[in-house]
Amino acid sequence: MTRIVQCAICSGPKKENLMLLGRNICKDCEKGLVQSSVDDWCYPMYLEKMKEIVKPADIKETSLR
Ligand SMILES: [Zn+2]
Repeated sequence: MTRIVQCAICSGPKKENLMLLGRNICKDCEKGLVQSSVDDWCYPMYLEKMKEIVKPADIKETSLR
């Protein structure tokens, strides 16, 4: 059974692929992320989205200490 989860990067309803901190990263975005290099136009976008995904987890972690 495959769940349909909103992708944290493209915001589209996608099949559950790579769950990162409770957020889904769809196959297309995972591929884009892996294949993009620092010179690519889409790299900063991916970087920003990744920051957004990681950010809430950081806050949670800090409040536990
Ligand atoms: Zn996506």
